[in-house]
Amino acid sequence: MTVDAAILHPDFKPDPYWWDAAPPETTPAGEDLPKEADVVVIGSGYCGLNAAAEFGRYGRRVVLLDAGPLGIGASTRNTGGVTGGQKILLAGPTRDISAERLALMLRDSIASFDYVTSLIEGERLDAGFERCGRFLAAYCDRHHERLIRLGNLLRQHTGVTVRDLGREQLGAVIATDFYCGGILVEDYGSLHPGLYHRALRNRARRHGAELFSHAEVVELVREGPRHRIRTPRGDIRARNVVLATNGYTTGAFSWFRRKLIPVASYHIATEELPRETIQRLLPGGRMVSDSQRNLIAMRPSTDGRRIIFGARPAAFDRDEGVAAGLIHQTMCAIWPELRDVRVTHCWRGTVAMTFDRKPHIGERDGVLYALGCNASGVAMMSYLGREIARRAMGIQERPSAFEMSQFPEKAWYTGSPWFIPWVTAWYNIKDGFDRRLG
Ligand SMILES: Cc1cc2nc3c(=O)[nH]c(=O)nc-3n(C[C@H](O)[C@H](O)[C@H](O)COP(=O)(O)OP(=O)(O)OC[C@H]3O[C@@H](n4cnc5c(N)ncnc54)[C@H](O)[C@@H]3O)c2cc1C
Repeated sequence: MTVDAAILHPDFKPDPYWWDAAPPETTPAGEDLPKEADVVVIGSGYCGLNAAAEFGRYGRRVVLLDAGPLGIGASTRNTGGVTGGQKILLAGPTRDISAERLALMLRDSIASFDYVTSLIEGERLDAGFERCGRFLAAYCDRHHERLIRLGNLLRQHTGVTVRDLGREQLGAVIATDFYCGGILVEDYGSLHPGLYHRALRNRARRHGAELFSHAEVVELVREGPRHRIRTPRGDIRARNVVLATNGYTTGAFSWFRRKLIPVASYHIATEELPRETIQRLLPGGRMVSDSQRNLIAMRPSTDGRRIIFGARPAAFDRDEGVAAGLIHQTMCAIWPELRDVRVTHCWRGTVAMTFDRKPHIGERDGVLYALGCNASGVAMMSYLGREIARRAMGIQERPSAFEMSQFPEKAWYTGSPWFIPWVTAWYNIKDGFDRRLG
């Protein structure tokens, strides 16, 4: 597929648009790491920061370490959709679990949504949060029927307001005839991922957490009830360790890596457009994602001047310049009028899928973990970060539905996801068939 280089704006950056307002943070290189702490949190995404703040709130000395700048992972690269349970149902992990377990998972999913929204609204965090609603667009009639069933379950288990929109009502949420309808979850929201991350860093520090960038944990050594956390900048000893590395989990944690499948996803931001254009293309400023297996996501930027558009552009990973062109083509299939609109940013981020498509929280050999966002973690990984801290301190309200006896792995998988291009291609074929069959 050829890509028209003219669609790249002269100021094109291969970085997240969100970083223009709130870039990842580098802490002073000369700072010594503490030698001792009550808790070391590994990973500076939403999960790690929420865990660190919670430990700090309860008076623990907590040190958070990241291999790169603070916020270099998925937490400043995502679409910013704030949801509560739709992924658990949509991703299809429901077949192998009982109705009771599913109900508990959905209860905890909506708890994650309530946690994040009350955190942002209650503490007035500057996160660009809006209760704008989320439209799940149907790629074909059969997908629409499935979405309606999903909407009924969501309504029943999580109490959200769901509206079914037929093809003729599509114009209320998106100006395209690419989809055949869908469901609108009125309650869900959106935020600015970079601003939310910065607000969480500030909050963790307000609660006393010490945050360090460029401090990669290269080994964990168990020393009786304590851990020695090894980094190139020195060792730290701590009673508790929390692993919050999700799609960026390194070989130092091979037991976990064998259970996590890192998958890259890409976004573009368009140049600024007239507000009226954005309001016409996405009336009501909703978050939109579709029902394809390789899903497409879109939204207005928080200032309402750009389209943010996400997709997996090709089976194999591409550099951002090429990916920008491919995603632009997909965007134009939905809105042909954007043909000459240029792209200012294109970036990729990595999520962690799991073999059972559920997030996992728990403890292994004394290491606490919250991992496996399965591409939906703005609310969930924030919540699980807090939950893992509360679990460690013995103050959880109830056991998490995502603490399960099994964290599945496959004998043939060691942490290198060689099969993703083939799965992506297969999903494209299946989506194509679905579309043709209607
Ligand atoms: C393109 C994209 C779009 C998405 N859109 C949405 C959305 O709209 N809604 C939604 O709910 N979710 C979305 N997600 C998912 C969401 O962004 C993630 O679930 C969430 O950010 C994960 O947070 P985290 O804290 O678990 O991990 P991350 O934010 O990925 O942080 C992990 C951190 O661990 C660090 N690390 C790794 N190894 C080490 C080590 N050895 N030592 C020290 N540090 C280490 C990394 O450097 C990284 O900073 C999206 C994700 C992507 C990539």
